[in-house]
Amino acid sequence: MNIAIAGAGLAGRVLALNLLQSGEHTITLFDKDSKEGVSAAGFTAAGMLAPYAELETAESVIFELGQRSIELWPELLKQIGLFDGYQQKGTVVTAHPQDRGELEHFIGMLRRKVDAAQSIETLDAEAIRTLEPDLYAHRHGFFIPQEGVVDAQRFIAFSVNYFERMENVTFREYTPVERLEPGRVHTAEGVETFDWVFDTRGLGAKEYFGDLRGVRGEVVWVEANDIDITRPTRLMHPRYKLYIVPRGNGCEGIDLEYCSECKLSQTPGYKRYLIGATEIESEDMSPISVRSSMELLSALYTVHPNFGEARVVNTETNCRPAFKDNLPRIENEKGLTRINGLYRHGYLLSPAIVEKALNEGIRRVQ
Ligand SMILES: Cc1cc2nc3c(=O)[nH]c(=O)nc-3n(C[C@H](O)[C@H](O)[C@H](O)COP(=O)(O)OP(=O)(O)OC[C@H]3O[C@@H](n4cnc5c(N)ncnc54)[C@H](O)[C@@H]3O)c2cc1C
Repeated sequence: MNIAIAGAGLAGRVLALNLLQSGEHTITLFDKDSKEGVSAAGFTAAGMLAPYAELETAESVIFELGQRSIELWPELLKQIGLFDGYQQKGTVVTAHPQDRGELEHFIGMLRRKVDAAQSIETLDAEAIRTLEPDLYAHRHGFFIPQEGVVDAQRFIAFSVNYFERMENVTFREYTPVERLEPGRVHTAEGVETFDWVFDTRGLGAKEYFGDLRGVRGEVVWVEANDIDITRPTRLMHPRYKLYIVPRGNGCEGIDLEYCSECKLSQTPGYKRYLIGATEIESEDMSPISVRSSMELLSALYTVHPNFGEARVVNTETNCRPAFKDNLPRIENEKGLTRINGLYRHGYLLSPAIVEKALNEGIRRVQ
């Protein structure tokens, strides 16, 4: 089939990879921005695969789809040659002593929501020190062993590399899609015809989805040479919830002229951490505010005093595409599939949502 994908962010890329696994399609990816994908929400994301922790605010369908995605991610990353871009070593959840009530409440809620959450382990001071020695200041916490993380920025970078090697893939960057119909893509250059068209434009699909909104998220990147936290770590707090996602200390293996990993010129011997993320009901994409920076960084400093000497190397802002119910939506008609509303769960959901959309759409009519 001759297939068009409008929007080459997270969902568009996962979709293209899935379609390429069967090898029998010609694929044209359209994006309004560059193929490096740096303006997609999928590029700003932490990439956490946290079906348990997300249960605090999400429905159990997110949990189920998330578990399926965790099964599917390793194969997708292998497909693009990103062998060290996936980790499933669990998440640590902790809090300061004065916020212990918050922590217990959070875990209690997860345990009430799904039976599988009974497997969440309670950590005392010694168990925390054994699991993550640099979290020694924390005396009480929890461990969610099944959760994982995708190196989101390298996923975006490696997928471009892969698409460029594929003869049956065309990447039309800087080509905004104005409108979609079954089998037809409208751009400033005219109308083009395909066998099937996919709409994965995220927030850019507002011209079609009147009820789509953006939810602002800000993140801070820091580098430190004397802190070694190896697992995503959540710090519960009554007002803001911080996570620290370790991203290792290098970008070896990225073979791109423009490298989304090392655009920050990483200092040798330093480890990089992504600190996130705010969640603000606004579509403002302007740089991070002073308040958000202060909240994220002061909470970070309390996790380990050496973070006080870490270097802030980047900050980013983006908006998560969401519907009122914060649930993902698939719309299928012959010749046109739309996937949107991945909200704060794009990495957690994309592989499973794409699989579902294909099974209910293009694969049913084939
Ligand atoms: C700060 C932050 C942290 C996050 N952390 C996580 C996390 O830890 N785990 C998780 O699971 N999820 C996380 N997310 C959520 C995740 O990033 C989103 O759910 C996901 O990126 C949405 O995927 P998408 O493909 O729909 O949109 P996007 O990734 O935004 O991609 C949309 C693409 O469409 C293109 N486009 C838009 N309009 C047009 C047009 N008219 N024509 C052509 N192209 C167009 C855009 O340029 C873009 O490339 C986070 C998000 C943010 C902002």
